[in-house]
Amino acid sequence: MRVITPGRPQQGWSKECRCTGSGNGGGGCGAVLLVEQPDLYLTFQSDYGGGRETFVTFRCVGCGVETDIDDVPWSVRGELPSKRDWETRRANAAMANAVHIDNRDAAASCPWEPTDGPTGPSTGSDDPEDYPDPHARPRRRGMDL
Ligand SMILES: [Zn+2]
Repeated sequence: MRVITPGRPQQGWSKECRCTGSGNGGGGCGAVLLVEQPDLYLTFQSDYGGGRETFVTFRCVGCGVETDIDDVPWSVRGELPSKRDWETRRANAAMANAVHIDNRDAAASCPWEPTDGPTGPSTGSDDPEDYPDPHARPRRRGMDL
């Protein structure tokens, strides 16, 4: 069999959700997002009776506002991490990405890197008389007034 038109990858539950900030003070940007199970985490809110209510929450990639959604199947809910676990997981993923990007940038910028390094021209004397910076003179004159 061959795929002629690739379908959406089957990653379990997913749903189109609007970024409203519901349950988190509002202020969502109104973006419509395809929220998938890895985007979701659990948040807890204590009520006055000492009980704890659980919410399924996602964070908008556009504006960062959190929105609670309530129509998530229990089978999905049961597998969701707490917010702290989710953030840890995301931070680790971001760190892995950052390392990857750093390596790529270093390789890409290598041919244009000046041989004496970026601090080369400014490592002279700090005295503005010895180091004629065109921006330094007007500033000095202004300070004299
Ligand atoms: Zn948003």
